[in-house]
Amino acid sequence: MTEEDLSGTLFDAAIIGGGINGVGIAQDLALRGLKVVLLEKDDFAGHTTGASTKLIHGGLRYLEYLEFGLVRESLREREILLKNAPHLVVPLQLDIPVYKTSKRNFLTVKAGMVLYDLLSWDKSLPNHHFIRNARKIARRELGITTRGLKAVTSYYDCQALLPERLCVEVARSAATAGALMLNGHKVTACNHDEPGVARLTVKNRQTGITHPVKARIVVNAGGIFVDKILRMIDEKSPRKMGGTKGSHILLHKFDGGPKQALYIEAYQDGRPFFIIPWYDFYLVGTTDIYYDGDLDLVRASEEEIGYLLRELNHWLTKKSIGRDDIVYSYAGVRPLPWEPGKKESRVTRKHIIYDHQAHDGTENLISIIGGKLTTYRSLAGECGDLICQKLGYERESKTKDTPLPGAAGVTDMKSYREEQAVLLAKRYGLRVKITAALLDLYGAGAADVLALTGERPQWKRLICDAPLTIGAQVVFAIRFEFARDLSDILIRRLGMTRSACLGLDCLRETAAIAGEILNWSGREREERIAAYETYVQTRFKPALFERCLAGREG
Ligand SMILES: Cc1cc2nc3c(=O)[nH]c(=O)nc-3n(C[C@H](O)[C@H](O)[C@H](O)COP(=O)(O)OP(=O)(O)OC[C@H]3O[C@@H](n4cnc5c(N)ncnc54)[C@H](O)[C@@H]3O)c2cc1C
Repeated sequence: MTEEDLSGTLFDAAIIGGGINGVGIAQDLALRGLKVVLLEKDDFAGHTTGASTKLIHGGLRYLEYLEFGLVRESLREREILLKNAPHLVVPLQLDIPVYKTSKRNFLTVKAGMVLYDLLSWDKSLPNHHFIRNARKIARRELGITTRGLKAVTSYYDCQALLPERLCVEVARSAATAGALMLNGHKVTACNHDEPGVARLTVKNRQTGITHPVKARIVVNAGGIFVDKILRMIDEKSPRKMGGTKGSHILLHKFDGGPKQALYIEAYQDGRPFFIIPWYDFYLVGTTDIYYDGDLDLVRASEEEIGYLLRELNHWLTKKSIGRDDIVYSYAGVRPLPWEPGKKESRVTRKHIIYDHQAHDGTENLISIIGGKLTTYRSLAGECGDLICQKLGYERESKTKDTPLPGAAGVTDMKSYREEQAVLLAKRYGLRVKITAALLDLYGAGAADVLALTGERPQWKRLICDAPLTIGAQVVFAIRFEFARDLSDILIRRLGMTRSACLGLDCLRETAAIAGEILNWSGREREERIAAYETYVQTRFKPALFERCLAGREG
């Protein structure tokens, strides 16, 4: 199916929003054999899904709020993702230091860890352990103060190295199962007057063409935009979302810095504070502040950056961190339910599948409120069950046993990677380092990326050496991963967030390849380059921005 089929098809479900929850629902329904269209106004993972702490975790802190069900569900999902997406989701060892002054004392942390292990009784990862011996603690090279340190708890969770790629692989899986997945398509109107059928108006933001779309059910998976979407249907729709903003900063790793991921109780407010080694950086976050600003332009504020720096400088021993040390920052808004009067950290992280029929009588509308990255698959399954029940289908969810495209046919990713890196390097005359980098990003899909070089051998050339990236990846992003623009390609397909220059160094070369495939004129290419520079500057505020631009011109 293509965009041309939009107006002539009655879809079982139209999903608004291509964050992790929307694409997860599309995948779930398409695998059950339903006729599905997903409409995303910008790009897959272009909003909150691309702005998280990247943890695939049970959520240790939710135990304090007695959200045992959510923790168990998350821990189960963590295990399923390790199986279905081993190239994208990897184990992460975290250390929790317990100080004399910690609000959560040794016994509290111990009780929490035991419960966490019990709730993940069927996991493949090791249980937690405590380290109380000073010499053993020193060996862990925590990189933070040991004054008043009583013990360290070490436990495992997981990390989605690039959540944007997780989202795009789920979107590909949905498309393979038959869903029509359209990014760059904004829903501008939604009408529920006719019984049994919802009518949407959808605008292709590139061509300006609008299409009428009919669906038996509409799923509003707009994340923080859920209320905006509901007000297209009924301008008096009561508020459902109470988003809180969270910001992160990235620093270069440094000698004497933490060797492990750290989960610290913030000295300023007792909230969780993470310092997580991620590629060449430390990912540091986060904040949690109610947000009512522009949902399309969410940035880390000076106050938030100040908070994170104060926290870092309180804990780190080897280096004092200033604003100049920040490589870049990013921020997102958690799509939480509106619970007026509650402190941000107390708002439930449980998702709500809001069936409007039960609340306001709208027959064919479901809104997704909340939903973590970790639990997208179970949320989608729950939503899929409800939709099937409403439409009278008896079909089970199949996602639990459906590996994502990069894991298809692979039983042991580690040995597959080792074998294939050598084999592919030989076949394509490339360095093993390059094929290994492709396998890290695409898993089994690396072979498909390399196959493109048969068409044009110069696509084997490196366009970036950190992270190692070849021209064929740009072509693959456009032909097989729905990319339409430079930020889709560089940020959300090639993972240029792993580079301090955020793709600015290889921007022109990327634009040249993309322009050829997408038939951009010279002028259009220049406009898109300028738009990318603005995007990177406004969204990430990178320290190297001026230097990268100057370097390119020089
Ligand atoms: C700071 C922070 C840290 C986090 N850390 C973690 C973590 O470590 N682990 C974890 O599991 N979770 C984490 N989360 C939560 C998680 O990231 C989000 O809950 C999840 O990504 C939400 O996904 P979503 O699909 O609901 O929303 P989004 O990703 O925001 O997607 C909604 C989409 O709807 C689209 N849309 C809106 N209106 C329209 C329209 N009219 N037409 C078409 N499309 C439309 C938007 O463009 C957007 O792409 C974190 C969140 C934040 C903010």
